[in-house]
Amino acid sequence: MHALRASIMHCLADPGEGSDPATWEYFDDGLLLVDGGHIVNAGDATTLMRDLPADTPVRDFTGKLIVPGFIDCHVHFPQLDIIGSYGAQLLDWLNQYAFPEEAKFADAAHAREVAQAFVDELLANGTTTALVFGTVHAHSADAIFEAAEQKGMRLIAGKVLMDTNCPKDLRDDPESAYAESKALIERWHGKGRLGYAITPRFALTSSPEQLGAAGRLAAEYPDVWVHTHLAENMDEVEEIARLFPDSRSYLDVYEQFGLLRERAVFAHCLHMDDADRASMASHGGAAAFCPTSNLFLGSGLFDLASMRAAGVRCGLGTDVGGGTSLSIPRTASEAYKVLHLQEHALPATRALYLATLGAAEALYLDDKLGNFAPGKEADFVVLDYAGSNLTRRRTAAARTIEEKLFALITLADDRNIAATYVNGEAVR
Ligand SMILES: [Zn+2]
Repeated sequence: MHALRASIMHCLADPGEGSDPATWEYFDDGLLLVDGGHIVNAGDATTLMRDLPADTPVRDFTGKLIVPGFIDCHVHFPQLDIIGSYGAQLLDWLNQYAFPEEAKFADAAHAREVAQAFVDELLANGTTTALVFGTVHAHSADAIFEAAEQKGMRLIAGKVLMDTNCPKDLRDDPESAYAESKALIERWHGKGRLGYAITPRFALTSSPEQLGAAGRLAAEYPDVWVHTHLAENMDEVEEIARLFPDSRSYLDVYEQFGLLRERAVFAHCLHMDDADRASMASHGGAAAFCPTSNLFLGSGLFDLASMRAAGVRCGLGTDVGGGTSLSIPRTASEAYKVLHLQEHALPATRALYLATLGAAEALYLDDKLGNFAPGKEADFVVLDYAGSNLTRRRTAAARTIEEKLFALITLADDRNIAATYVNGEAVR
């Protein structure tokens, strides 16, 4: 067993817009006890020290803040090198930037190199778990799984399925999509901490036959994830309505093909109605709220209030490369602004929830991740208020822990990540 001494904060449930104090815990002088990759306890240092065996190593991070590892519910590792590409909305952005970049992943060595760099960037930003898109190439999934496995990370990923409305060199077909995904599930799903996600890019780039094949696979493997995009952009939504005239809505397309179920995560979910939200909640689907991407690509504003009121599981996604940062705190800061524009609030405690426990609930991993309940996996981040001069000054001027955390979230970058722990071990 070993211990870390620092301030500690975690969520027990969704704090809501009112930052309900019963839903989160903060220990100003805290102690986190870790054994064999799992949390033993978290609490007040003075109390916990009394029963601690004298020879227990204690790492002193006094003055810093330990929170659970951040979870990114939607990101594309092959788009790492096109982050911040200028001037286009979704469909043009895919054609101008994403598809040409993803074509480079036909080269397996390139896929491995980018996967390594991507995982390093996640950890540098305090992200310990992510739900990740590959490219259409099966070896892109191998590459990201191998990179995550080396670090011992809990990571979910999948090869992209796309067989229409995209460049010819990026197409699979219904049969190969099924066979390759099945082989990848058998190779990777449940291996160590890794999980597989059946990953149709979106209903625009998969034929009905391919969506059907994905649905059959999803029925065959109920414990794998489904990961796709939904209702991101108005032109996209109109095109879906034209292609699938018999579907009530965009979400209904996925439902008809058996892709709306527990462990199905839909990125964006911007242009939806109440019936969609109710259906998503009742089927156990989840939404990835990707504010930097939604603003950058001019897609729209995520309606967190309606989603949560309907009972939809929600976490944050960076959506790099449409998103502009791999930092979950920076993503939460943009989420605050998106909600502000809709006359809603995002207190720091709820931002922390969306970044940790809420995301774990969205991914059906809340029995393993998301807070410091005894027995959960020991993935956590040590945040440094003094990572930059500005964050040091600003957080010193804060009057409460909520103000302090909010300022840190608003201003933080990777300089504020003092250490990232995976499985109880510092990996950065
Ligand atoms: Zn995306």
